[in-house]
Amino acid sequence: MSYAKHLSRSSTPQTEALPGQVANSAGGNSFGVDCWTRLDRFLVLGCEGGSYYASERKLTRENAAAVLDCARTDTLRTIKRIAEISKAGRAPKNDPAIFALALLAATNEPAAYSGQIKPIGAYGFDTISNAALFVLNDVCRTGTHLFHFVEAVTEFRGWGRALKDAVAQWYHEKGADKLAYQVTKYAQRNGWSHRDLLRLSHPVPQTPGHKDVFQYVTQREKWQKSTRPGTRMLVFAEEAKTASIERLCKLIREEGLVREHIPTEHLNSPEIWEALLENMPITALIRNLNKLTLVGLLKPLSTATSKVVNQLNNADMLREGRVHPFNLLVALKTYASGRGFRGDLTWTPVPQVVSALEDAFYTAFGTIEPTGKNHLFGIDVSGSMTMSTINNTNVQPRSAAACLAMVGMRTEPASYAFGFTDRFQDLGISPRDRLDRVEDKVQNSNFGRTDCAVPMIHALQHRMEVDAFVVLTDSETYAGRQHPTVALENYRQKMGRDTKLIVVGMVSNEFTIADPKDPGQLDVVGFDTSAPSVIADFVREEVPGRRRAAAARKAA
Ligand code: CA
Repeated sequence: MSYAKHLSRSSTPQTEALPGQVANSAGGNSFGVDCWTRLDRFLVLGCEGGSYYASERKLTRENAAAVLDCARTDTLRTIKRIAEISKAGRAPKNDPAIFALALLAATNEPAAYSGQIKPIGAYGFDTISNAALFVLNDVCRTGTHLFHFVEAVTEFRGWGRALKDAVAQWYHEKGADKLAYQVTKYAQRNGWSHRDLLRLSHPVPQTPGHKDVFQYVTQREKWQKSTRPGTRMLVFAEEAKTASIERLCKLIREEGLVREHIPTEHLNSPEIWEALLENMPITALIRNLNKLTLVGLLKPLSTATSKVVNQLNNADMLREGRVHPFNLLVALKTYASGRGFRGDLTWTPVPQVVSALEDAFYTAFGTIEPTGKNHLFGIDVSGSMTMSTINNTNVQPRSAAACLAMVGMRTEPASYAFGFTDRFQDLGISPRDRLDRVEDKVQNSNFGRTDCAVPMIHALQHRMEVDAFVVLTDSETYAGRQHPTVALENYRQKMGRDTKLIVVGMVSNEFTIADPKDPGQLDVVGFDTSAPSVIADFVREEVPGRRRAAAARKAA
């Protein structure tokens, strides 16, 4: 009997591995995620700033290896995934997608494909590199994206024929009016300019409009300063460099000039900002809330405030502008604090705008159909969740996890959230709490060791009737006498329920507490905007094998 006990799953501490587990960075053992989950985590969460356990450099190397693993397994699936997450705005930043694409664009190996998807040849590319260049325009939608891409790709490879053609194609595929906007908005970034790229890639202009733009960029001295339909922006952008405030306001209102076209010395003028605000894209609006407040346009009961609040309340506008909830959270935190994250600007936040940002955070996740099942959200508030930030912003994984739990709690009427370290931590969060209040509650919780089995163990102790455990964590668990998956098995058995476990990954590492062999456990990526509906679908879905097993247990 005692010999058997030594081999039993339920008495294996987290410092010892269960079959199929790998050592994590905290001295415990977790399951490893496959390269596809790793790819998703990297694309959505990035690894800027590193994590508590690993430097940015180490994580970047590991993530690069995962991206390559994916491409060597199934090239088409990989580039489709990168393009899809980038285009749909599912990630807060486009940089990881650009980096992944640049890495693959420099990988001159035969393309790989699995039986599921059409052979690569049908798409006209034979190498990983060519496949990556094929989606360049999908991932690099603005001039700034293109500069980032070129900066990254030239770290890995030289300017071969295929790269030149792909960059030339980027210029060909845009209409002349769009190009005129791009080349005047950002002439250069990261040491690269449109002039460099046009000279290196040599696109031959296919229309008079393209000819006009290319000449404006590469041979300004020969360029004819007369307005042509389609490329009028070139002339007005030039004029803006020396125009009066009055004229600038007219150009903004009538010709669509944007903030980047305005000389710096006029960027403290309320008239200029009033004109800009009339047609400001929603992402620019969110970025400039502090400035709009500083110049005096945003204040209690002003027309500008009503306009801004209306836009932040507009779900269609948020969706069309691909406004990501994470960026709203960062904006909310920064704006409400009244001072710049990296700078010495201060302003007096307008309460109405703060509330609108908070509402927009929830709205930006889109409509999530509630499942009506009982949800328990376990928020990892241990030390490692506080020692880094997500995407190099002012948001720690711990606060981010709590805010994500709020999204779930507001969706599911039967829900309960608590924090855990190596023990239960009561946070007292309710669905009606304001996000800043939630953050305070999380900040006040104790640092501590980590045991990701706590949510299941606590629920069993208190006989809580849980249909879905949603655990938000970095999966660096080590301090428990029982593994999380065993605690879940135990809970299911003792409670006679088909309870599921969803692990919301909050750091771009390779670990998870979800057992990949159990169809009742799932990994999603925190702040993937599709995660809440993926979770809901999973919770709704029946797991036939599990149901039968539960029925058999009950019968016994
Ligand atoms: Ca931890």
